[in-house]
Amino acid sequence: MIRLKTKEQIARITESCIIVADTLEALGRIVEPGLSTIELDRWAVDLIKARKGVPAFKDYRGFPANICVSVNEEVVHGIPGGRALVEGDIVSIDVGVLKDGYFGDGAATFPVGEISEEAQTLLEVTQLSLMKGVEKATPDNHLGDVSHSIQECVERFNLSVVRDLVGHGVGLEMHEDPQIPNYGKAGCGPLLVEGMVLAIEPMVNAGGWEVETLDDRWTVVTKDRSLSAHFEHTVAVCENGARILTQVESAAPRRS
Ligand code: MG
Repeated sequence: MIRLKTKEQIARITESCIIVADTLEALGRIVEPGLSTIELDRWAVDLIKARKGVPAFKDYRGFPANICVSVNEEVVHGIPGGRALVEGDIVSIDVGVLKDGYFGDGAATFPVGEISEEAQTLLEVTQLSLMKGVEKATPDNHLGDVSHSIQECVERFNLSVVRDLVGHGVGLEMHEDPQIPNYGKAGCGPLLVEGMVLAIEPMVNAGGWEVETLDDRWTVVTKDRSLSAHFEHTVAVCENGARILTQVESAAPRRS
């Protein structure tokens, strides 16, 4: 069942989403060679708690950290630890925030110093595909229009969309209906209506789309160990189109 949100609820969800966006922006600025992934986690906790939020991934289904940090061939759900970032790495950071009962979710992949042209293209295309999907999140479109638009963008650049992991509804819970695949047919799936809040999150691999989970039972990696990138926005379907809620404070509307 897809739970529709009132304007007031969307305004509250936006508060959480702004913390997500500001945290991601701040973490992106400190990413550099030599920084360990657990330091990103520590910074994230401080940033989120200073804004009276709670890191929403901590203990979620037993996840042992506050944010997900996934390096290179790691797709999502990487556990921060002692690994130090190295020049040329790409690092995906996924942040969930709970504040006053409302959830926001967002992710971005950052370059560590100078990265290869292949990696740069992967980052740009993944981000572009997210925006292509977001554009379709408007009333009277179908969910499949979002999925199809993402897939089409990614495959045009000979990259592949992860099939086993999907975006999701968000706001009153961390994960709500509907599931949002990053591939699919235009015109199919649930009709989009005002009040839906969707976490749209393409995960894109430089090689094949297949993934597997490491022995830590969390970290998802590409099966062929090719690079993977991940960008995510929480988006509200509004009367006049899609509104990205996970934007930094200066860019986001405070109240709808
Ligand atoms: Mg998500």
